[in-house]
Amino acid sequence: MAERFYWCEQCERTVVSEDGEATACTICGGPTRRISWLTAALRKVGMGTGNRSDIQQRHIQLIQAIWTADGMGQRYFEICQPGSMYYSRFVRRVNELICQGIEEGWLGLTMPKNPLDPQGRYAIEYHDPERFVTALQQIFPEGAGRLAARETRDVRHEEKV
Ligand SMILES: [Zn+2]
Repeated sequence: MAERFYWCEQCERTVVSEDGEATACTICGGPTRRISWLTAALRKVGMGTGNRSDIQQRHIQLIQAIWTADGMGQRYFEICQPGSMYYSRFVRRVNELICQGIEEGWLGLTMPKNPLDPQGRYAIEYHDPERFVTALQQIFPEGAGRLAARETRDVRHEEKV
């Protein structure tokens, strides 16, 4: 049984349930709602063992590695022209967007069951390129207006790690 993650609004903490049952907050007893592992990893609050959050951190780094591979990160950076923003910060911001897209289902993520598997296959698929472009335009209104949806339509980032 895969462990599930819940969020306690009261103490703003991630609660992990090993048996997959909805659970009250183990700290304050408050109500919790289910969140995905991505949200849990992005919030990085109150995670259990260091080991678990290391694995999730690795997932996020891998997602970043997938879409920035082969100079694509630089290409997005040039197209979006994020003003005075440093490349590293740009990458972090777009990565957040991509994680959000995966959670909301307009981007697809293929990943191995075991994130530590060296043969694991990771891929990001743009189910809804228009939506991705629109979101980029909202974040980077100066440059991303020139980013046409066709830029992403045929792009399928894939990487073996
Ligand atoms: Zn709580």
